[in-house]
Amino acid sequence: MAHVIAIDGPAGAGKSTIARRLAERLGYTYIDTGAMYRSVALWALRQNVSPDDAFRLEQLAVAAEIGLLAQARVHLNGEDVTEAIRTPEISAAASKVAAVAAVRAALVEKQRRLAERESVVMEGRDIGTVVFPNARVKIYLDADEGERVRRRSEQQPGVSAGQLSAELAERDARDRSRVESPLVQAPDAAYLNSTGLTPEEVEEAILRIVRARISNGKEH
Ligand code: C5P
Repeated sequence: MAHVIAIDGPAGAGKSTIARRLAERLGYTYIDTGAMYRSVALWALRQNVSPDDAFRLEQLAVAAEIGLLAQARVHLNGEDVTEAIRTPEISAAASKVAAVAAVRAALVEKQRRLAERESVVMEGRDIGTVVFPNARVKIYLDADEGERVRRRSEQQPGVSAGQLSAELAERDARDRSRVESPLVQAPDAAYLNSTGLTPEEVEEAILRIVRARISNGKEH
């Protein structure tokens, strides 16, 4: 039976790094659901579809063929968009299209299908609350704001810390306050604050949670 480890939390908490390491360690498939919202946002921007046009956005989300490949490469309709979806413009647009209920419904369906046949470590904002409420292990990964901005500036050296901080705050506020599947900690998720911890320490902490949950016999 396929198992799901759900990792949710705000931008810059270190979810991708840890989800990827964990998947490798456990032999599970790593699924970055943020890359799916980013891909739809990229397609919408290229097609000049407004973030308010729920009807067209839904069509794009349903039609998008999103490939999440090895080494975290992302393909949209056969094109490698791994780098194209990481710009600040796409980060902001992704968080806007992610507020559209019909877009979420289309992508959640794709996410559930991805976990039908294989065990996954899936990261996002609503994995433990909406996509897989019965996930075997749920982790809410957090970090203090300064640390999250610092991590983002390592990933985007060209952008000033002030600008990154403003963008992060705006995106998180939108993700937390939207009506549809807002970013919240699931009541049964384990909370971990990664501030000041190395990736190795976060991985060990999460592995302890995973082992404890699995030996508790919680299924899915
Ligand atoms: O995780 P990442 O920062 O790449 O996600 C980009 C945006 O996609 C987030 O700011 C959020 O608005 C949206 N998202 C979401 N639900 C998910 C994953 C990402 O709403 N499960």
